Amino acid sequence: MIDIEKMTKLYPMGDTVVRALDGVDLHIDKGEFVSLTGASGSGKSTMMHLIGCLDRPTEGLYKLDDQRVDQMNDRRLARIRNRYIGFVFQTFNLINRTSALDNVGLPLVYAHQRVTRKKAMQALERVGLAGRAHHRPSELSGGERQRVAIARALVNNPPLLLADEPTGNLDTHTGEQIMALFHDLHAAGVTIVLVTHEMAIAAQAQRVVRMRDGKVIEDRQVDQIFREELLAGRMKAAGKSAEARTA
Ligand code: ADP
Ligand code: MG
Repeated sequence: MIDIEKMTKLYPMGDTVVRALDGVDLHIDKGEFVSLTGASGSGKSTMMHLIGCLDRPTEGLYKLDDQRVDQMNDRRLARIRNRYIGFVFQTFNLINRTSALDNVGLPLVYAHQRVTRKKAMQALERVGLAGRAHHRPSELSGGERQRVAIARALVNNPPLLLADEPTGNLDTHTGEQIMALFHDLHAAGVTIVLVTHEMAIAAQAQRVVRMRDGKVIEDRQVDQIFREELLAGRMKAAGKSAEARTA
């Protein structure tokens, strides 16, 4: 589904250039569930922007579902996004002055109000929130807001779901509920790429891709051994930050 070769993204910054992506190769098959991890500034969000066709690479090749998207103009990229990709963000990005139902219907371009409402309602049902359709985001809990955002991402039935730290603003228990929803969507055939720096979240994917300084430094299937390593690494990292705090 995703074929990326030697992809580079440079951001000019005054006299210098930030090498946000530095020659990345990445292939993701239809139906995979992949975690993208790495320290802050390692290039995860840039990678998601490019995978999500929100931006074009400076250099390199990107094929999405066998279509070259790296050179497409904005209008064609928008069409690809609409057809293929759902986005979920850490901060939900919902519109506060309107209902959950209207938020979910936003990506739909139907002229028929009735069709829009029906599809939006179906997407809310898919995330278990049909009962909250007429609430505004401010009347919902964090976990419910994220589920509305996931319903909005799903409303066009995209085959690819991209989530950038979707549990980052949620407590552990609510984060687990969101992960359970991702597991359901994955089981239903959706390809998922999820950015997280939490190893307990990353370890739930089938495969973990780790970035550093704009490069992929590790790309590994999650088996029992690797899962335990990831969870142990999380403990170590937690211990380290505790040390740093007391130092
Ligand atoms: P991550 O999501 O892993 O924290 P990012 O992809 O956001 O990393 O950033 C990678 C690098 O690119 C960082 O050094 C960041 O400062 C830089 N960067 C990201 N977006 C921009 C931008 N729009 N303009 C300039 N530099 C950017
Ligand atoms: Mg980021």
